[in-house]
Amino acid sequence: MTRFIFITGGVVSSLGKGLGSAALGALLQARGYSVRLCKLDPYLNVDPGTMSPFQHGEVYVTEDGAETDLDLGHYERFTGVPARSTDNITTGRIYTNVLQKERRGDYLGATIQVIPHITNEIKDFIAEKDGSADFVLCEIGGTVGDIESLPFLEAIRQFGNEVGPARALFLHVTLLPYIPAAGELKTKPTQHSVKELMSYGIRPQILLCRADRPIEEEERRKIGLFCNIPEENVIPALDVPTIYEVPLTYHAEGLDKQVMKTFGLDDAPDLDLGTWERIVRRVKNPESEVKIAIVGKYTNLADSYKSLNEALIHGGIANKVKVKLHFIESSVFETDNPEDHLKGVHGILVPGGFGERGAEGKINAVKYARERNIPFFGICFGLQMAVLEAARNLCGIKDATSSEFESGGEHLVGIMTEWTKDNEKQKRGEDTDLGGTMRLGAYPAKLSAGSKVAEIYDGTDISERHRHRYEVNINYREQLEAQGMIFSGLSPDGKLPEICERADHPWFIGVQYHPELKSKPFDPHPLFVSFIKAALEQSRLV
Ligand code: GLN
Repeated sequence: MTRFIFITGGVVSSLGKGLGSAALGALLQARGYSVRLCKLDPYLNVDPGTMSPFQHGEVYVTEDGAETDLDLGHYERFTGVPARSTDNITTGRIYTNVLQKERRGDYLGATIQVIPHITNEIKDFIAEKDGSADFVLCEIGGTVGDIESLPFLEAIRQFGNEVGPARALFLHVTLLPYIPAAGELKTKPTQHSVKELMSYGIRPQILLCRADRPIEEEERRKIGLFCNIPEENVIPALDVPTIYEVPLTYHAEGLDKQVMKTFGLDDAPDLDLGTWERIVRRVKNPESEVKIAIVGKYTNLADSYKSLNEALIHGGIANKVKVKLHFIESSVFETDNPEDHLKGVHGILVPGGFGERGAEGKINAVKYARERNIPFFGICFGLQMAVLEAARNLCGIKDATSSEFESGGEHLVGIMTEWTKDNEKQKRGEDTDLGGTMRLGAYPAKLSAGSKVAEIYDGTDISERHRHRYEVNINYREQLEAQGMIFSGLSPDGKLPEICERADHPWFIGVQYHPELKSKPFDPHPLFVSFIKAALEQSRLV
């Protein structure tokens, strides 16, 4: 029997609902249950694929090629359960589905309304997960009180009512702000938020209260009293130094215990959280430190590179080092001496990116890493820039560029109009929609035996997730390889370059895919483990 846990948020956004959901998922797994996590996003975009990383943070790509909310990355990193395209839905998608049905004539005769047509579509999305796990955790994006969230709240209310209290639980995440003048944490916003939720017919049974300092018994009692919730279901959720500590602290505060109790399930006393304890111990007690420069363009918002940051931390966990991330806006390398910004870093990473702005700076940063023998990791756009750098500075193709850029030149990186997925040809025109038309999701690649990447992966067959529209032109292989840029990974049909590496450099690898999406704290991605190891070696040299 599948039980459903609905997670809403109140008071303010950015409370870490996604992390909380992921941590609860991990705790339920530790109790021996299977879990599935999904997210309902109230914004109108069909998916976050076309949203700026500045606005919405990273776009997380699933194995089956959906562009989804970054919270799905948290879910996967904490539970190891691969996220699927059917785990994230937006208002835009819901309306698109309903309107397509309306055009097809599926509702013939009916007037299409938010209730029941939109709410039914939302409920179908949730019901589709019935039977897929012991627990389905369903996070509602946004904050209670937002206009956009209303149909979702109505849908989960109805759903909860239909499956009954034995199978549905409502968990609300709120904030207790600290008011310095009063010297206390305030419970009023939480009371109001719960009241608002109740006005939609949803009575939260567990409150996860975010606060920056311990919540006194008196405040817990007060919240319980005013919100009509047993005091032990008011769970303090304090800030912690590492996100991987969240499962441990929530467990210590009784979150999973109260979930069990609310569902009338046995509270198994012998919960093994050894994996999380080991991870936290490693994060908190590094033996040394490495400094990694991330040369990108969304460097103002840490969430833009969420999975990347985490994957680097995972690489640090594996090597027992603290990874200090140093974000550098790539355009500085268009004017400044790279030395001024990169002196003393132990590794340089050029992450994924889109568009021409800052590209020249990235190429200059690659050059610095190559010439100074500093470990270099290029991801997606980063690989493309590494290829342009080699073409211009080693092969003598001075005007080497990408067709993604407006300026003319020789296109070593070009728009991809044809590729193979599951033995079927995928075709795109240059003028097709931008949304959802990239090469997306998991694709296999073949690595050359004896290459550095084959050694790192300990094998020659891999599968990694992609999100790109342009590719390195394979016809330049010979010219680039003559200059030491080895094409050590290709698509199985040999047409698409997936990996380039340099044999004459301590660690220089560019990949066309996004390895960071599959890294987990308990299963760090081999490329990140190896990159951080190389950075550690570099740190011993300088
Ligand atoms: N803009 C490049 C492309 O579409 C790289 C994309 C990326 O880095 N994810 O091919």
